[in-house]
Amino acid sequence: MVRVRFAPSPTGLLHLGGVRTALYNLLFARANQGATILRLEDTDQDRYVSGSIEKLEQSLKWLKLNFEEGPTVGGIYGPYVQSERLTHYRDAASSLLHSGAAYRCFCSKERLSSLRSQGVGYDGHCRGLSQREGEERGKQGVHHTIRLKVPTAGDTVIQDIVYGEVTVQHSAVEDQVLLKSDGYPTYHLANVVDDHLMEITHVLRGEEWLLSTAKHLLLYSAMEWEPPRFVHLPLLLSSSGGKLSKRNKAAFVETYQERGFLPEAVLNFVALLGWSPPTTELLTLDDMIQLFSLKDLNKKGSMVDENKLLWLNKQHFKRKLENREELVALVDQLQQCVKSCYAGILGDGDFKLSKGYLEKVLLLLEDRVSLVPAIPKEASFFWVDPNYSTTDLSTHSANADTVTLLMESLGSCDSFTKPHLDGVMREVASGSGVAYSKIMQFTRTIITGTKKSPGLTAVMELLGQKTVLRRINNFRTN
Ligand SMILES: [Zn+2]
Repeated sequence: MVRVRFAPSPTGLLHLGGVRTALYNLLFARANQGATILRLEDTDQDRYVSGSIEKLEQSLKWLKLNFEEGPTVGGIYGPYVQSERLTHYRDAASSLLHSGAAYRCFCSKERLSSLRSQGVGYDGHCRGLSQREGEERGKQGVHHTIRLKVPTAGDTVIQDIVYGEVTVQHSAVEDQVLLKSDGYPTYHLANVVDDHLMEITHVLRGEEWLLSTAKHLLLYSAMEWEPPRFVHLPLLLSSSGGKLSKRNKAAFVETYQERGFLPEAVLNFVALLGWSPPTTELLTLDDMIQLFSLKDLNKKGSMVDENKLLWLNKQHFKRKLENREELVALVDQLQQCVKSCYAGILGDGDFKLSKGYLEKVLLLLEDRVSLVPAIPKEASFFWVDPNYSTTDLSTHSANADTVTLLMESLGSCDSFTKPHLDGVMREVASGSGVAYSKIMQFTRTIITGTKKSPGLTAVMELLGQKTVLRRINNFRTN
């Protein structure tokens, strides 16, 4: 049975690269009736950021990425938090010492940092200590780490499902620390031990781990364990082409959640960063599970392009409007956003805050919306009268007579509905001698304060006769 894991470190917010790793693991497992495991790799005490576990779980929940086993849901392979599994790593390290595949290193921090400052890796200084000598000094409590004894000759060949055969010369691999002097494992030891004990069959992770896989394979071999299959995923690039830095806010899921992106759109977007689906690009999680295959993963780095995300958001938004339950949820969200945007301007009982009104607004904006929280400002005319002093009136050719005719025609209109208003607007055009398109253009500016809006007569119907006449009058007396 396929078993995969997503193993983030609680070092801050959830990175888009992390979401992609989580998603691909989940898609691969679901497509193969396998199991997904969430494991927290929290053994790097220096990098631990408090509160990040909660934030991570919250982000995964928002994206609806659910794992069958993990710290919160439990499972028979637990515990799923590495700091609660230290004995497993220490046992593995002892066994490696015992077999001679690892050795104790007593080098001081100063010595190691001096090597680093010279630009060289660890020089194997303690490799020559006999097992007995090492054991004795260890027993005396001398500070030490445990290092992997990487063969000095030969190479390790990694069979990667995305990158193919990758050969790593042992001469280029330093003797990796496996267990630190504080008794905590490094990533390399902990992830190998856990992947083995948790019976992980496929490791899908970022490309930055590709070359380290050689060390991991040496560990599997030293422990006489069967290694999993490896699938490395290409780098994510920022829109300027470089690696998507952790200092870039665009790198984190929380940023998109705060800005009002839909979780479905974020997942869809992330899915396409390294995977070419065989059909359309617009996909729900269920679609992705149906279509996902490792053979369609790319080697090339993928650029995080926000315009693509906005486009996907628009498409998922439209889909949601067609589903009653989803529409109700969007109306609720919009109501909160409008209330906070126009607090003090719109009273609690205002019709323009009612769910019925807001639903019509959303349906009118169907093709225009990307982010719900942006609607109150971007389509402010649904709630407040335009401010003509800040409106661009440059395209206006309307003279006072035309505006008067418009005012009178709309004022005497006894059925303020779209079909009827369509007729009225045509009559105003023929009565004034101004082209219909021009009449519509300046009426739009008067009513909405913008040059672009959903269908004007539909907007007028929704705003109502009183509001429309007030705005024309405001414009006239402006
Ligand atoms: Zn040493």
